[in-house]
Amino acid sequence: MRIDTCFDDAARTKSKPVSFEMFPPKGEMSFEHAQEVARALAVEQPDFMSVTYSAGGSGNQGATAAIAQFIAQETHIPSMAHLTCISLFKDDLAVKIAELKAAGVANVLALRGDVPLHEASSSRPADFRYAKDIIPHLVEAGFCVGAAAYPEGHIACDDLARSIAHLKEKQDAGASFFVTQLFFDNIYFYRFQELATQAGITVPISAGIMPFMSKQQISRMIFLCGASLPAPVIKLLARWEDDPASLRAAGIEYACQQIEDLRAHGVDGLHIYTMNRADVARACMSAAR
Ligand code: FAD
Repeated sequence: MRIDTCFDDAARTKSKPVSFEMFPPKGEMSFEHAQEVARALAVEQPDFMSVTYSAGGSGNQGATAAIAQFIAQETHIPSMAHLTCISLFKDDLAVKIAELKAAGVANVLALRGDVPLHEASSSRPADFRYAKDIIPHLVEAGFCVGAAAYPEGHIACDDLARSIAHLKEKQDAGASFFVTQLFFDNIYFYRFQELATQAGITVPISAGIMPFMSKQQISRMIFLCGASLPAPVIKLLARWEDDPASLRAAGIEYACQQIEDLRAHGVDGLHIYTMNRADVARACMSAAR
């Protein structure tokens, strides 16, 4: 099933699509384990599930299409494969498209990917500079295409209005929905949503929520993506610093409060970064529904 249809149906019935994001096998995680994760997440009956793609050469890229195929065929939940273009040449994109088609994938989240630290800018291929550059190719190939959005602006773009203008370019290139980066203060999302509407963004924007699980995870995330850490989160991290189980519970509870508030404000959709954890999926789904 196409995800744009899923958003259209939800708009008609005044419901909010809830999606789960998982990562495919990597490191010591086997393909079978990833299948078990997908099955466990599917129990919560999200409206669709997305599978990340490694831009950084971890060798698991082929697994994204295979897990997306597994989700759609075995759990009957619509799936979406992420695809990054940072190190793709035109021929590579044709191969990727064929691979996704062969796996029966209907939906693709078109991304640039992060610039690998070890790669000098001069060694970067010029075929696809931004996510918007691959979107028309994917649309032409028949995929329903989504793209990434940044409520606080992308980390490499210090002007929110410019970041939103780049978003509009992705819509103009054919993206039919957006999924946002995580944020911990809903105020940023509401401000962003308003500015996006003013800038002519008309496609649905699904709000991305990731419960914090540990101090290390949160520090890594905020330096990677530039999301702000509001005082209530800092206080919870300080309070439960020496009690990992309570810290995780606090993280899930905080995310559920964010979800309830977003739902009350009528967001287009909710995208849960599950980190492959069924307990996170379960708690967030009960807050979302
Ligand atoms: P783009 O939209 O191409 O933007 C990249 C930068 O270029 C931004 O600073 C933007 O403002 C700027 N820009 C865009 N257009 C122009 C223009 N015309 N002129 C000048 N500047 C421009 N990464 C992965 O590796 N694998 C994943 O599976 C993955 N999944 C993700 C899922 C979501 C929901 C999100 C929000 C992010 C995900 N990422 C993933 C991270 C993503 O790859 C990075 O955030 C990356 O740095 C930017 O990707 P993008 O598609 O938004 O890039």
